[in-house]
Amino acid sequence: MEQTSKIALVTGGSRGLGKDMVLQLAKKGLGVLLTYKNSQEEALSVVSQIQQAGGRAAALRLDTGDIKNFDQFFVAVKRTLKEVFAADHFDYLVNNAGIGYQAPVGEVSEAAFDELVNVHFKGVYFLTQKALPMLHDGGGIINISSGLARFSMPGYSAYASQKGAIEVFTRYLAKELGVRGIKANVVAPGAIETDFGGGHVRDNEQVNQFVRNVTALGRAGLPEDIGGVVAFLCTEEARWINGQRIEVSGGMNI
Ligand code: NDP
Repeated sequence: MEQTSKIALVTGGSRGLGKDMVLQLAKKGLGVLLTYKNSQEEALSVVSQIQQAGGRAAALRLDTGDIKNFDQFFVAVKRTLKEVFAADHFDYLVNNAGIGYQAPVGEVSEAAFDELVNVHFKGVYFLTQKALPMLHDGGGIINISSGLARFSMPGYSAYASQKGAIEVFTRYLAKELGVRGIKANVVAPGAIETDFGGGHVRDNEQVNQFVRNVTALGRAGLPEDIGGVVAFLCTEEARWINGQRIEVSGGMNI
């Protein structure tokens, strides 16, 4: 395994897309600090998989919708960086953690809307804000959006609106942080077979067939289709990619 001193913090690295991002980052030799909310066992198993392959990893619990606890989280980040990575900064922040939600506009409850805002937008905004002092100059931020911010499907108004918001936020990050050499980009996956939204892309044949039909490459995405793209953005080769939205969907709805 090639080694670099770079470190990435990935939210929601216990399962799904985040897990593959973490594994691909570790494969490129980066140290990875991943977060989980409920899946502690899965998170620790990802950590030990990386360690067994000779890599460096640690996991911390974080609820990305619980903004008042972010200061406490970064105290834990600081301690973990020192103890596990012998570092006091990290290089890349990947805002990946998320929840699915589907309801027509007329049926979206305020509680569900607030949860989506907290996890997908306000949480991403303030986690990034609070990460800035610990982020190395020359590093990068990757925000995970969705194909649904470009094309529209009934039932996704509340969810996709938050993804639209982080796409705008990402451009502002790129603009303001350029003076520090920090890049900010969006990766927008198409429909991917994970547990997301109750696992419907993976487990519901009708949904999967629909996705196959509207995807130029003729299948639904897999976590392995996404992680490598995020890992690439965390390399020196990607240093000139900034303020971009990279859709990784096999050509969905083009
Ligand atoms: P999964 O449901 O497979 O995994 C979600 C991950 O996010 C888990 O690690 C989970 O942690 C974590 N998570 C969920 N809620 C919180 C929270 N409140 N605080 C902290 N962590 C949380 O989803 P995916 O991997 O599919 O989705 C990852 C990202 O990709 C999301 O932002 C999603 O919106 C986006 N996306 C997904 C698509 C898809 O089709 N799958 C398509 C386009 C975008 P734990 O298990 O530990 O609780």
